[in-house]
This record gives sequence, C-alpha cells and structure tokens, in this order.
Amino acid sequence: MQIKIDSSLLELVEGDITKQDTEAIANAANSNLAGGGGVDGAIHRAGGPSIMDECGKIGGCPTGEARLTSGGNLLAKYVFHAVGPIYRGGTHGEPELLKNAYLSCLNLASKNAVKSVAFPSISTGVYGYPIKEAAKIALTTVIDYLKTHQEINLVRFVLFGSDAYSKYE
Ligand code: ADP
Repeated sequence: MQIKIDSSLLELVEGDITKQDTEAIANAANSNLAGGGGVDGAIHRAGGPSIMDECGKIGGCPTGEARLTSGGNLLAKYVFHAVGPIYRGGTHGEPELLKNAYLSCLNLASKNAVKSVAFPSISTGVYGYPIKEAAKIALTTVIDYLKTHQEINLVRFVLFGSDAYSKYE
C-alpha cells in the first residue's frame, strides 16, 4: 500500500530488503557493526565483503544511531546501519531508542541527498521488540519526518512475511 505524505510517498511492501532499488536501504545492525543473522546477515551476503570492510573501519555504533556505508553489490548506493534497542520490557528507553534509530537514518538520507530509503522492521526479530508497538513508532517517526522533509521522495517499509506486513498495515 502507498500513502502520500504531502508530496512524499510512504510505501509498505512485503518482501526482501536486499532486492530494493531505493537509493539507500537501512540495516538492523548490532552495535559492533559486526554482522549477524536476520536482515543483517542477508544484507552482508547480498552486498558482498566491501560493506563489512567499511563497517570494520567505522568500528561500531551506539544504540539509537546509524552509520553509512556504500551498498557494495546491492542495487542501493548506500546502507544505513541502524542499531535498534534490545527489548527488555519496554521500560529501559526502548521507544525513544527505536525512534532515534529511524531518525538517524532519515538524517543521513537528508544529509547525503538520498531521495529514497527502504527500511526493515528494526528490532522486531532477534531483538524482540513487539512488532505492533514497533510499527507504531516506526511509522509515526517516518510520517512526522516526511511532513517537514519533502526532500525525501520515498520511504518504503519492506516487511518480511505477511504477518509483519499486516501489523504495519
Ligand atoms: P533485530 O536484531 O533488530 O531484531 P533482525 O534481523 O533479527 O533484527 O530482525 C528485524 C526484522 O527484519 C524482522 O522482522 C525480520 O523478520 C526481518 N527480516 C529478516 N530478513 C529480512 C530481509 N531479507 N528483508 C527484510 N526484512 C528481513
């Protein structure tokens, strides 16, 4: 589905983030930027070793922030490695940290003149964030940002499986 936010487009699709043709894709990374399973593993497998080389040089990223690398062999020119929170009951600052992880990616997009970004559902896999709560935060953060940043034309959430898609929908 697609929704217009002023002149920008917010899109929800079910699919694989590594196949997206947006200028940037976001990764749900860990704070060591060391690679892992889930979407992180898929991005490094599809993008090739140059992305990990760049991550190694950056060294790490605090929770609630994001770092930029090139996209290696991906269609996307950039990967924004965002570190979402590990869910520990929701009372350890998780909502704010999750919001900031998305905001950091959006700021990287604006700073680097990136007009289209695809996001996975950050923190809702191994990091255990309940997807319905995470979806609300992800969507409100993006919608609020697009309202004041029309330089980004497209934000696409790429949901892995129909269950994740329907939660976001
Ligand atoms: P986290 O550690 O932040 O929870 P995960 O990679 O474990 O990150 O999961 C985040 C979300 O990404 C989950 O909803 C998972 O189903 C989804 N996911 C896994 N592989 C892909 C993929 N190739 N494309 C898009 N989303 C994916």
